[in-house]
Amino acid sequence: MALNSKTSDVQIHVLMVAFAAQGHINPLLRFARRLLPKGIHVALATTETAKRRMLASETAIANADNTAVIAGFDVFFFSDGFGSDFDRKANMDHYVENFGSFASVSLSNIIEEHYLSKNKKLSCIVSNPFVSFAVDVADKYDIPSALLWIQPCALFSTYYHYFNDLNEFPADSDVVIPGLPRLRRQDLPSFVVNSSGGLSKLFRCVFQNMKKYKWVFANSFVELEKEAIDAMNNVFPVQPVGPLISPSLRNQEQTTLDSQIEMWKPDETCLEWLDKQEPSSVIYVSFGSILELSAKQMEEIATALKNLKAPFIWVVKKPEFPSEDRKGELPLGFLEETKDQGIVVSWSPQTKVLAHPSTGCFVTHCGWNSLLETIAAGVPVVAYPQWTDQPTNAKMIEEVFKMGVRVNPREDGLLGHEELERCIGDVMFGPKSELLKRRCLELKLATKTAVSDGGSSDNNIQMFVDEIIAGS
Ligand code: UDP
Repeated sequence: MALNSKTSDVQIHVLMVAFAAQGHINPLLRFARRLLPKGIHVALATTETAKRRMLASETAIANADNTAVIAGFDVFFFSDGFGSDFDRKANMDHYVENFGSFASVSLSNIIEEHYLSKNKKLSCIVSNPFVSFAVDVADKYDIPSALLWIQPCALFSTYYHYFNDLNEFPADSDVVIPGLPRLRRQDLPSFVVNSSGGLSKLFRCVFQNMKKYKWVFANSFVELEKEAIDAMNNVFPVQPVGPLISPSLRNQEQTTLDSQIEMWKPDETCLEWLDKQEPSSVIYVSFGSILELSAKQMEEIATALKNLKAPFIWVVKKPEFPSEDRKGELPLGFLEETKDQGIVVSWSPQTKVLAHPSTGCFVTHCGWNSLLETIAAGVPVVAYPQWTDQPTNAKMIEEVFKMGVRVNPREDGLLGHEELERCIGDVMFGPKSELLKRRCLELKLATKTAVSDGGSSDNNIQMFVDEIIAGS
């Protein structure tokens, strides 16, 4: 019988720990939302960067004691030891190699103040590899740890094989990993292609010490990545619990409360604009919350959109630290030239845009959250990956999920406007487009099956709940 902590006298507490990135916090919170109805009390700890962003965009209010209640969850903010004027993105290697030592102390303080001093027993700390210090803090207090892997299982498998030397990774030929398509050099994650950076070192440490985690979950689902998951389970078991995405996307007719943090305020005006467009006619362009493209790349994209003359929504986030070379900024004059064609927003309500019937294709950097959202919405993809897991995600999109095409950048690494026009044309109007749409529809239905009661991911979540309750 499925256990439920509501029926027992003991309160079960779980703490989620995340890096201050929208794409890291939201899957954890959505995992938390799945645990709530089973009677588990969940809180989130994240760094003060998240607090600063949310206060600046007025998407949350913080209490004087560095806590907040967001989407119904207690959130504890902690210092990572770096000031607000430190550009973490530009100094990523230095940041990831150093923030853990300070953040471990901050996290320990949270555990002591909010749990131990109140006689609340923490039954599990759930984190992801970017905050790997959390597993050692949990260990210190004898609290079991769970890892929520926030990328596809194919990536988990690639890293696991790479960092544990279980596979050949030849520089001059394809990499062949069980359950995965053949990976060319340009399909490999950047932390494998260049393994000397801080994030790569962090991943090496996590993947060589995977046994420290009592549970390893992934934000994916069996119906999407069966071969990769089956093959990985022969080496180190991973339990898919996804897709951990907005419930409105999983099941449009059901208005379940969502759990997400918004670090920037979504501009909802684009939804009214979408209402006025033809079905499946709009090109949605977004490169997530972290990337900033060069000014030259922005120009190529702008030219492609103008030449295509199709309606578009382009998310162009205001750079946090603006640069002289206009990195990440729109070409001058673009807004005026396209004011009757499309709309530019600094942050969109992405899940609503993807679920809107007027949206016809998604030009994306292939961040895993964005891909899961587009899979659940059934929208085909033009993949323009940049770094980390994105090249491998793009490979999966094109060859395994078969729901989009991947662009071929020029020799100088830039994506030329002609190539982007060709790919968008292929996905929206070309001979392949009907096939892609049919495949998208199949996957959209599969997302619903996985997370519904008794579905493959739901069963894995229930197993976790049963185990933490039994161990408490
Ligand atoms: N997102 C959004 N509005 C935007 C752009 C992105 O709400 O204008 C959300 C998107 O829905 C996704 C997350 O931000 O949930 C981005 O995560 P992803 O893993 O795709 O990329 P990252 O930002 O981590 O590179």
